[in-house]
Amino acid sequence: MTQTTPVQERYTRFSCPNPQCARFNHPGEGNIVHRSWTGTHQHIERLRCTACDREFSEREGTLMARSKLPEATVEQLLKCQRWGVCDEGTADICAVDLKTVHRFQHVAAQRAETHHCQSVQHVEVQGVQVDEAHSKLRPKQVEWVHTALAMGSWFLLWVDFGPRTQGTAAALLAQVIARTQQLPLFLTDGWKPYTAALLQVVGVVYRRRRRGKVGRKPKPRLVAPHTLFYAQVVKVRNTAGHVVEVHRRVVFGKPRHDLRYPSVHFSRSYPVRTNSNSTNCCVEKALCACRRRV
Ligand SMILES: [Zn+2]
Repeated sequence: MTQTTPVQERYTRFSCPNPQCARFNHPGEGNIVHRSWTGTHQHIERLRCTACDREFSEREGTLMARSKLPEATVEQLLKCQRWGVCDEGTADICAVDLKTVHRFQHVAAQRAETHHCQSVQHVEVQGVQVDEAHSKLRPKQVEWVHTALAMGSWFLLWVDFGPRTQGTAAALLAQVIARTQQLPLFLTDGWKPYTAALLQVVGVVYRRRRRGKVGRKPKPRLVAPHTLFYAQVVKVRNTAGHVVEVHRRVVFGKPRHDLRYPSVHFSRSYPVRTNSNSTNCCVEKALCACRRRV
């Protein structure tokens, strides 16, 4: 049965999705009106912007957009991903095809990344723990998961996937710098490219003064800023894989005694180990993996 047209106040939470429109991203300006009802049960409302005549669904911009699944199923799929249920298990629980699960992961991962980029900004964090973990993908693929966690709160500042190279490490560190309010303290394992990657991102150009007028001019090089503190915590393991010794090494800066880190002082105990069968390792999935380890 066709529903009656809701009152105009209902549309104050919508805004025009057309980037070229003057009312784009401006909800509550009275330019959104009812257009029609769509869907099998005529339960999805189509709206229209009076400024640019653009028509759009009330689901635009949500996980339900262009989805034929019931809302309850989408909610269940999301919960399964949140708690790290395997793909086959998710398909069974939600009574959907495995391909549907993979398609959903793709959409949800993109949306989670966009939301993270928009929301996680100017974070006040004193220290960041950076690590990379080996991950298996289907079929017989190997990928590295690079993560940056805020010390103390375990908030996942950024997660990246790619080869274990200095470029990936620099991209991860750049994301951390972009999301934090001030230059945080960095803790990593003993992987050497982190030092160069950190200089690549936050280093300042230093040119040594030339002595006399003979010889070549000294080349400029990147050095760590005075405010940077970077330390490495290296675990030495025996053949059985047990930690037998822990080395701590300050690479840049001096220990800042004004910082307080409850129970995480110079410790790195969180590495994310994902053995996901999925090619779509979304932020949520990595987050779940982190919490399981903690
Ligand atoms: Zn418009």
